[in-house]
Amino acid sequence: MKNLIFLSLLPICVSVYSQNEKQYYLTADRIFDGEVVHSGWAVLVQGDKIISVGAKEKVLAPANSIKINYSNSTLLPGLIEGHSHLLLHPYNETPWDEQVMKESDAYRVARATVHARSTLLAGFTTVRDLGSEGAGYADVELKKAINDGIIVGPRMLVAGRAIVATGSYGPKGYDTDIKVMIGAEEADGSDLIRVTRDQIGKGADVVKVYADYRWGKNNEPMPTFSIEELKTIVETAKSSGRPVVAHSSTAEGMRRAVAAGIETIEHGDQGTLEIFQLMKEKNVALCPTLAAGDAVAQYKGWKKGVDPEPEKIKKKRESFKAALQSGVTILAGGDVGVFAHGDNVRELEMMAEYGMATSDVLKSVTSINAHVFHIDNQVGSVKEGLKADLVIVSDDPTKSISDLRKVKFVMKDGVVYKKD
Ligand SMILES: [Zn+2]
Repeated sequence: MKNLIFLSLLPICVSVYSQNEKQYYLTADRIFDGEVVHSGWAVLVQGDKIISVGAKEKVLAPANSIKINYSNSTLLPGLIEGHSHLLLHPYNETPWDEQVMKESDAYRVARATVHARSTLLAGFTTVRDLGSEGAGYADVELKKAINDGIIVGPRMLVAGRAIVATGSYGPKGYDTDIKVMIGAEEADGSDLIRVTRDQIGKGADVVKVYADYRWGKNNEPMPTFSIEELKTIVETAKSSGRPVVAHSSTAEGMRRAVAAGIETIEHGDQGTLEIFQLMKEKNVALCPTLAAGDAVAQYKGWKKGVDPEPEKIKKKRESFKAALQSGVTILAGGDVGVFAHGDNVRELEMMAEYGMATSDVLKSVTSINAHVFHIDNQVGSVKEGLKADLVIVSDDPTKSISDLRKVKFVMKDGVVYKKD
């Protein structure tokens, strides 16, 4: 009897199985595997996984596989955006203050669904989204909607509301009688334990804290939390297996963040050679967000290529050089949202423009981001057993990084989202 039931179920199982296990056989002139470039290679995808990678003579095309090939093309792992805000849109469209205070969560989410789609179609199959900026846990829900297949978008690591020291964050300068929506959650001292736990409970994959912010007497960035406070957050988050990342642009804020055991520093504008060396020593990575500063300077009236470079941009260039010199791990993350979603390559172009080798930029946006974000067992490389997140572009981004803009094909989890 048992055998009979088994036999009668078998054909159904087999057909469902084969439907779900579509095979793709992808070839390209060049395959960047996350580390190095190979020619004459092929990638075999089955279901949502890469099942075989190597020389075409060894990795053969199964008879009924779907063949993907573009002339003069490069295949890469799905790109990983290291610092996004899918719930923000460019500040030259609507200033940050107004987005946070006047746009409803529903409106912001409607926009975010479009941002998610443009990000994925630009070849960015994963994002680390670092704060909803006043939209509560809408990022957690956005991630769920993508994972449930309701909307199209990248896989997401989310930070939720993020933590700021009371009185330090914006919007600012409004009548204190009016309750103004703050762009992140305020907390201090021992209350940081509760808030960290609450954010984790509500779905934060990473805890983001602002180690400094523009709360100086002249609106300049100054450190906020003490080392002890930062340690409280790190210890609490660590207990749940989650990393803490810090927004920080002052040298002192960075120093405190490093001392507290934070894993990545976002922006790091005033970082010096000494600080970057300390970061390297303590295994803390830098996410420089070059494109955000570049965009903001242009929103303030700087005509790039015509006017001389503003002081802030010059300093950022110098600080990035020091970071390169120090050997600190450099992530690829542009703070996209400050500028348009889908234009994520802008950060990579700037990393190259500011002196980083093109091959290193490609590693940053794939295997290095994946490693630092603890997802290298899933994505970031073209490697057997990993998720089938693959991108094909025309020409050769290992020579010219802007070729990453020439996206022909995007696959995430073995599903094709773009096929020119
Ligand atoms: Zn940001």
